[in-house]
This record gives sequence, structure tokens and C-alpha cells, in this order.
Amino acid sequence: MSGCTALGATPALFAGVQCGRLKLHRLQARGPRKETMHEMSIAAAVAEQVLAVAKENNLAKVTQVRLQVGELRLIVPEALCAAWEAVREGTAAAGARLEITEVPAKARCRKCGHEYHPEWPVFLCPACEQASVEVLAGEELVLEEISGEAEEAGSG
Ligand SMILES: [Zn+2]
Repeated sequence: MSGCTALGATPALFAGVQCGRLKLHRLQARGPRKETMHEMSIAAAVAEQVLAVAKENNLAKVTQVRLQVGELRLIVPEALCAAWEAVREGTAAAGARLEITEVPAKARCRKCGHEYHPEWPVFLCPACEQASVEVLAGEELVLEEISGEAEEAGSG
């Protein structure tokens, strides 16, 4: 069990994605990606935050981490899972599952106020075709929840 699941509000993007079982058809349609440092640096930042929170709460062991990731961050869940498995080694989060929830993108046109779902990399307003848009959602990177086991007090 590698313990990593991606859940999503956009099933076509994240459905059935699990570490070790790559289902990339939809993601590949977005074009090839060359670098994986993106996910690695995100995983490192997540681990750092997870361990800080665990320490604050006297957790000896982190068992699960829930992360909200905005669609516009263009994270490849498999890459983030793999990076997570690398960075968690040797820490209190060594056995922690990473659960990724995708936040769908939402944009609003500054010209006409139309709200829509932008399809990266095209952000033009579908109503008036202006490129002046405000991103309302989709840029999240939120540590939503951490589960773990508390340190045992005393000798027990
Ligand atoms: Zn518009």
C-alpha cells in the first residue's frame, strides 16, 4: 500500500488516480511536462508544514494529510504523490497517506462580469472574448486536515 489518493471535483481529471496506478489520459491531453521539481518543492513545503503542525499538537505519528489543490496549479497528482512518498521518509509523517482534493477553477470577466470555468491555458471570457479576467478559485494550495496519533504521556 503506497497510501495516496487523489479525489476530485473534476472526475475526468482525478478519477481513479492512485500512486502506482497511472491513469494519465486526460492530463496528457494538456501537453507534455518536462519538470517535476514543481511537485517536489510543493511536497517539501507540505511536509514542512505538516511536521510543524504535528509538533504543535504533540503528534508522534502523522497518519493522513488532506490537501486542497487548485486546478490552476497544474499539479500532476501522481508526481505529487511520488514526491510526497520521497519527502515523508524518515519523518513523523513517514506512513501518512496524502489525499488530494482538487478545487475547480473559476474566473470572472472584468469587462462583462461573466463567471466561467477557464480552460488552461485559454482564459478568454467566453461571453465577450476579453482577456481581462479575475481568478476567483483554482489557485489554492491548502493543508486542510492532518490526522495522527498523539505522543504517549509517561511510561504507559
Ligand atoms: Zn466578458
